[in-house]
Parts: sequence; structure tokens; C-alpha cells
Amino acid sequence: VVVITTLTFRMLHGARDLAMALIDTSQQFSYLDETLEIVGVPHTLTDAPDAPALVPGAGTVRFEGVSFGYDPARPILRDLSFDVPAGQKVGIVGPSGAGKSSILQLVQRFYDADAGRVLIDGQPAAGVTQESLNQAIAMVPQEVLLFHRSVMDNIRFARPDASDEDVRRAAEAAGCADFIAELPEGYDSIVGERGTSLSGGQRQRIGIARAFLKDARIVLLDEATSALDTESELAVQAGLERLMVGRTVLAIAHRLSTIADFDRVLVVERGRIVEDGAPQHLLMREDGEFRRLWMLQAQGLELNNKPEPRLRLI
Ligand code: ATP
Repeated sequence: VVVITTLTFRMLHGARDLAMALIDTSQQFSYLDETLEIVGVPHTLTDAPDAPALVPGAGTVRFEGVSFGYDPARPILRDLSFDVPAGQKVGIVGPSGAGKSSILQLVQRFYDADAGRVLIDGQPAAGVTQESLNQAIAMVPQEVLLFHRSVMDNIRFARPDASDEDVRRAAEAAGCADFIAELPEGYDSIVGERGTSLSGGQRQRIGIARAFLKDARIVLLDEATSALDTESELAVQAGLERLMVGRTVLAIAHRLSTIADFDRVLVVERGRIVEDGAPQHLLMREDGEFRRLWMLQAQGLELNNKPEPRLRLI
């Protein structure tokens, strides 16, 4: 068992989704120790008594007056309301600390709202079983965690009952097939800690393959901030484009160009939505925040990590 002792907070964000699925299937995979190491903290939310399973629909997401803080005395999301129809592609942008990741965490019900409701396909996330919610939502995190297992198992753990053929199809759709073929033992190659190490772009594509395998109507993306070489970047982007077809997407975007052709952008600042509209419309708003951010990035400036008092730039 691989003991992962130091995990960044960022990794925890992405890992929780995977870890919850993993706990369910630990019997099959004997991953439980790894899972607990990754989760790091006990998952305290429990299913409501007699909670029904989510009845998957077309993939809608709705926030109704949601307020939330990790510490109730320090609100992070403030009275947030938005409605994402099935199939819509929504980019979430804003300064670091604005609450973007927290929104995605609440969609997955890693936490409950302090006020308001999160509805998935019209059903309160807090009122359905966590397992059924987990099945309805696929998350592609910034940092894709790999286990010290074969590539096949690493992809399969998104859906443990998947056949080898299913895994291969998902890997091909995600653009993994070429690099897997070049690994010493193909799909049987051991990766992760002490195994064959994969590049950032390859790991990302494994994450996309997991999402394909899950085949959920709702896909959450947290765009990687770390730079990939151009070729990897294109391969990851192509995999994501294929994944997004016909699905509802909520994507945290750090490079605004990646969401230029999305249906909609939510600009979040200090836990509130300050702009909501199609990117091409927001770009035309003279004093708009999205336009301001866009212009800054067009000049080659990065959006920095500090939210105070507004976006600071490096
Ligand atoms: P970034 O772009 O840096 O990821 P973000 O917009 O996604 O930022 P969040 O990660 O949602 O912002 O964080 C919002 C605020 O909540 C920040 O002040 C952060 O420090 C705090 N926060 C996030 N997760 C936790 C947690 N598990 N416990 C306590 N505070 C947290």
C-alpha cells in the first residue's frame, strides 16, 4: 500500500470525489488504506435516513440562495443562485479565494450549504444518497491522483464493474491510447508512486478517461494551472472537448481562452456572482469584470492568486 503522507490541499479537493467512489469499491480493489490516506480527514456527511437514490435526469444543476462557509463565522459563498440547464457549458472565473472550488465541492456535496439548496436534476443533493450523487457527477481535478496499480485499474476505478474493453474505449476517447501503447507493458504497466511516472498531460488524460468511463451527465472540471507543453496541451484539450459533448459542464477556468466558446460564464468575487452571461456578451461590456480579466490575459498577464482587494496581477 502506498502511503501518501503529504498532500496539498488542492489535491484533496480533487481526490475526495475519487476517494468516495473508492471506499465503496475497496473490497474489490483493496485500496481502502490508500483511500483513507488520500481523504486525510473523515467524511462526516452521512445519508439522510431512508434517503432515496438520485434519479439521474438530463443533468441540471441549480443553486438556490446558497450560503456556505467552512467556518460558519466566515462565509465563503453568499446567497448564490444560478440555474444550469442540461447540456450547458459554464465557465467559472474569478480571483483565487473567490469560492470557485467551493461551488464545485457543494455540487458534489462534500459539504452541505448553511442556507439554501443545491439541486441536481431537480433533487436536493443533501437528500439523496451520496453514492448515487457520486455516480451522477464526474470530476476532472487539477491534479489527477494515480495509485500504484496498473493503468487499467487506475482508469477502471471510476467504474469498478467496467470491462477491459470499456476501459480501453474510455482511454481512446480521452486520447490516452497512444501513450499507453508506448508504456513498457501497455495497460498492465504499473504507474503512480514508485511506478512508471506519467507526465502532467498524461495524468490529465487519465483523469479524462475516468470521466468518460463514468459517463455521467454532469462534468466538473478544474483546469490545471501548471503549464503543459504545447503538444500535451492540445491532446488534453482535444480529450476535454470530446468529453464535454452532450454533457452539462461546470469548469473552473484559469485561462479564459479555454472557455471562450462556452455558453456562459459566471464571474465570482468574494462568494458572489458579479457577472453572468455568454462570454461574447460579457466581452462587450465596457466596464465588465470578465472583459477586464480578458484584456489582462490578452496582454500576457497571469491572474494571480491573491484576491485582495481585487485581482492582483504578476
Ligand atoms: P482558487 O482559484 O485559488 O482555487 P477558489 O476561488 O477556488 O480559489 P476556494 O478554494 O473555493 O476559492 O476557497 C474560498 C475560500 O475558502 C478561501 O479563503 C479558502 O482559503 C477557503 N477554504 C477553501 N477550502 C477550505 C477548507 N476545506 N477549510 C477551510 N477553508 C477553506
